[in-house]
Amino acid sequence: MNIILLGAPGSGKGTLAKGLVTKLALFHVSTGDIFREELAKKSPLGQEVASYMSSGRLVPDKLVLEVLKNRLAAETRGLMFDGFPRTVEQAEGLDAWFTSRGQNIDAVVFLNVADDVVAKRLGSRRTCSGCKKIYNVISNPPAKEGVCDACGKPLFTREDDKAEVIARRLQVYKDQTEPLLAYYRSSGVFLEADGAQSPEAVEEKVLALLKSRA
Ligand code: AMP
Repeated sequence: MNIILLGAPGSGKGTLAKGLVTKLALFHVSTGDIFREELAKKSPLGQEVASYMSSGRLVPDKLVLEVLKNRLAAETRGLMFDGFPRTVEQAEGLDAWFTSRGQNIDAVVFLNVADDVVAKRLGSRRTCSGCKKIYNVISNPPAKEGVCDACGKPLFTREDDKAEVIARRLQVYKDQTEPLLAYYRSSGVFLEADGAQSPEAVEEKVLALLKSRA
């Protein structure tokens, strides 16, 4: 099964993906996580994407597609895309890639969350530096401030979750990623869930939606 998660930054795609990949035995493909890993390693790719990421702009489509094709060439598991595609050009590239493998997209899940809610969530998001678990200091804080419940490593605020970059990321989403809703709505595999609910409720709803389609 191949699934795409769509939604604004802060809509809960990462949290949902982490839960679903275990339950559905899928491979989690987060382009944001891939780029952050490369950034941390200071690899040539990391250096190439650094300025786009820190300013909240999108990494060029050609580069994103090239990185993913290389990473996924030998992957045989079903895929859960989180944060990709982000433009119509990336979606077209993904369609062509699946066709070349004789595969297709089974579901596109859109997490619908109001603008003011995502802006607030991004400002209070903290990420574990070890296992990458995502917290929210208001609605889902760790037991001990600044420390991951799951692995005990320190939490950090992502560079692009700082106030000045959040507005830009949300605008980029509106301009470049929202057109994907129309692209996929007509595909016959489009599903929509209210992403403003708790992570548990969102996961339950999405699992039910996926089941009803199976
Ligand atoms: P994310 O963790 O998905 O919010 O991504 C963080 C940043 O990585 C984005 O603001 C972009 O700069 C870059 N990025 C991640 N995924 C993509 C993508 N599919 N296309 C272009 N840029 C991306």
